[in-house]
Amino acid sequence: MLRTFRLGGIHPPENKLSAEQPIRELPLPREVIIPIGQHIGAPAVPTVQKGDLVKVGTVIAKTGGFISANIHSSVTGKVTKIDSFFDAGGYKRPAIVISVSTEEEEWEEGIDRSPDLIKACSLEPREIIERISAAGIVGLGGATFPTHVKLSPPPGAKAEVLIVNAVECEPYLTSDHALMLSKGEEILVGVEILKRALGVSRAVIGIENNKKDAILYLSQLAMDYEGTEVLPLKVQYPQGGEKQLIDAVLRKQIKSGALPISAGAVVQNVGTVFAVYEAVQKRKPLVERITTVTGKHLETPSNFRARIGTPIGHLITASGGLPEDTGKIIGGGPMMGKALLSTEVPVTKGTSGILILPREESTRRPMRNCIRCAKCVSVCPMGLNPAFLMRDVQYADWEATEKGYIVDCIECGSCSYTCPSNRPLLDFIRTGKQKVSAIIRARKS
Ligand code: SF4
Ligand code: SF4
Repeated sequence: MLRTFRLGGIHPPENKLSAEQPIRELPLPREVIIPIGQHIGAPAVPTVQKGDLVKVGTVIAKTGGFISANIHSSVTGKVTKIDSFFDAGGYKRPAIVISVSTEEEEWEEGIDRSPDLIKACSLEPREIIERISAAGIVGLGGATFPTHVKLSPPPGAKAEVLIVNAVECEPYLTSDHALMLSKGEEILVGVEILKRALGVSRAVIGIENNKKDAILYLSQLAMDYEGTEVLPLKVQYPQGGEKQLIDAVLRKQIKSGALPISAGAVVQNVGTVFAVYEAVQKRKPLVERITTVTGKHLETPSNFRARIGTPIGHLITASGGLPEDTGKIIGGGPMMGKALLSTEVPVTKGTSGILILPREESTRRPMRNCIRCAKCVSVCPMGLNPAFLMRDVQYADWEATEKGYIVDCIECGSCSYTCPSNRPLLDFIRTGKQKVSAIIRARKS
């Protein structure tokens, strides 16, 4: 029997409409909008000004603290402004706008753009982490935590195993699947590099069993890499959550507030592993990523290689344009994604997908009273009581909310999805989590 995590979970319709689609190259847009805060932590600090000429790979903003990441230009062109723009979360944030040159594209010196596979890596762990940091690599599964920080465990903690998150449990999304089929060798080399950086000899690549071709392909490749195995997993949402994946792979549960390293594990998304390969072996910064554009009424659901900063409207046009009955445009998948305010929102390092929902699927059904069925409790993968948490947030009872472990919520949306009374549990829990996190931060400081 295939493994999965042991607490809660659901199985929504998969709708992987673009699963058979290879990665498509996208024509360059006329301009890119590159936010300086595309990661968890401090925003980067701009190093360019209006009028500056940049190449692909030029650093345009440098890390703004220990937990932060460099930002590079994804195009050749001219900086036209530094201003605030709406991001995927609906907030206005500073971004650098670059108009794309019509001349031939120039890349920064030292970036190897050849398709040749480079297997050998004799760098010291410190040098690997420096290259990853310089390239601005962050978690590409959506968490966007700076990768170089994750590879530097706190004093006293020791990594024992690298877990590669190739689960892609969100319905509709297929960017990781497409990447595994097209860049399997590079991913395996990336795994070796990360093992070296962490000083571990074991790696497990966890893939859900709805991607049998990727399981087969990577399993065959992994035979040449000692200590690396591919583990097929039962399809179960939200297995892509770090704690859920660690439980599925290692049969270890992480305590409330503890980090994966407490179980000896470091988890990296498969897209991040590929980006690490490119950063270390090719000196290529994170200037593009694979993004799924999908929806039931979209002409051509696709997986694109998109430059960071490309307005999402550009990707939607290349997929056949917005269907007439569009109700919502979601940044990410249907479970954890957020509705976008406009098609001007740019692709960022964390944009794994764009989902176009038709009108009939975008309207919420009317909320009814809680019938105490406890379905939300039984599906919560963190062992929380979403019904009580929503009630406590409604009454602004922050003490009870904190005692209910609201900060452990991974915002997977399983509770809202399951509730027969259509109660917007996650909306309330998300608001309460922000409030309680602020209270805890204030108390600590
Ligand atoms: S959104 Fe939070 S409370 Fe709801 S099921 Fe997921 S982890 Fe549990
Ligand atoms: S699933 Fe909905 S109706 Fe059932 S207990 Fe939870 S909040 Fe109440």
